[in-house]
Amino acid sequence: MEYFNFYILLSEEIKDGQFYLDEPLQKYTTWKVGGPADILYRPKNPQECAKVLQLAREFEVPVTILGVGSNVLIADQGLRGLVILTEGFNDIGWHEDQVTAGSGILLSYLSRMAAEKGLSGMEFAAGIPGSLGGAVVMNAGAYGYSMDQIIVSVKTLDMEGKTREYCKDELAFAYRYSIFKRKKELIFEVKLALQSGNTAEIKEQMNKYLQARREKQPLELPNAGSVFKNTGQGAGRLIESIGAKGWRIGDAQISEKHANFIVNLGQAKASEIKKLIREVQKAVKERCGVELETEVVFLGFEDNRR
Ligand SMILES: Cc1cc2nc3c(=O)[nH]c(=O)nc-3n(C[C@H](O)[C@H](O)[C@H](O)COP(=O)(O)OP(=O)(O)OC[C@H]3O[C@@H](n4cnc5c(N)ncnc54)[C@H](O)[C@@H]3O)c2cc1C
Repeated sequence: MEYFNFYILLSEEIKDGQFYLDEPLQKYTTWKVGGPADILYRPKNPQECAKVLQLAREFEVPVTILGVGSNVLIADQGLRGLVILTEGFNDIGWHEDQVTAGSGILLSYLSRMAAEKGLSGMEFAAGIPGSLGGAVVMNAGAYGYSMDQIIVSVKTLDMEGKTREYCKDELAFAYRYSIFKRKKELIFEVKLALQSGNTAEIKEQMNKYLQARREKQPLELPNAGSVFKNTGQGAGRLIESIGAKGWRIGDAQISEKHANFIVNLGQAKASEIKKLIREVQKAVKERCGVELETEVVFLGFEDNRR
């Protein structure tokens, strides 16, 4: 394996570092697909991670960052080099109506904690199954709200291992877009500003949103949320209008419940999901004249075109 020597070097340089060789990534994605990472790494803290990034840079090892894999399609061949899982960045500090949290914290967990503290602003995020870091990168949102409305600042490590801090205005937020879509840095901490509210009312609103998700989304099967970004008419509606609900390649299927979801019926391969995505894009373009762009991020494919 090409990066075996780098694995040995990491194990020597970073005492107690959590490195795993040839680790299957399907365990780390909500679609339950994806081949192995040459080296999977779970940093304990940003200092340790900075050292690893410096070494990766020095030895020209490719780096991929993964939150909880709820918006990615990882190729069946897996990912070369180092894959960094952010779940170890999990400190949380509350200060009046602000919270500073590690990027590996689950958005759903942080939303519930905010509710308990009588802080409003994260209700929309209660049912988004991503990490805080992933939600910043994607500018995740729902029901008319999105992360950019609550973000104050973000701390990152660049690919040389240097710490950087950005305030919200520097992050170029737009619909499902932030500067981190084109600038590869690892977000390890995020500061959010919430407003004081009433716990019972906040929870009631969250439950309404969660109920709406259960009714509309195929949560009983592995999926990655909305596959395509919404256009004016709504991607789901367009896909439904061409009769694509139920289209299937192998075990990858356009959900019967929600046309913008592709579900894994059991043994779907990433290649099958990708093929289905391309077929839908082609058919919607031909029949509706609309170019659907994926919200889902492709990792490890030769053609990572959205
Ligand atoms: C059932 C379901 C419902 C969903 N509903 C919604 C919804 O309502 N709204 C919505 O916006 N999304 C939704 N999603 C999609 C997804 O949950 C969000 O985009 C989420 O924010 C992604 O976070 P993640 O940790 O899973 O990121 P990943 O999928 O792991 O990664 C996404 C991208 O971010 C990068 N990344 C992740 N963490 C970091 C980090 N710390 N630093 C730098 N880069 C990083 C990755 O390299 C990748 O490019 C849904 C998904 C599912 C499965």
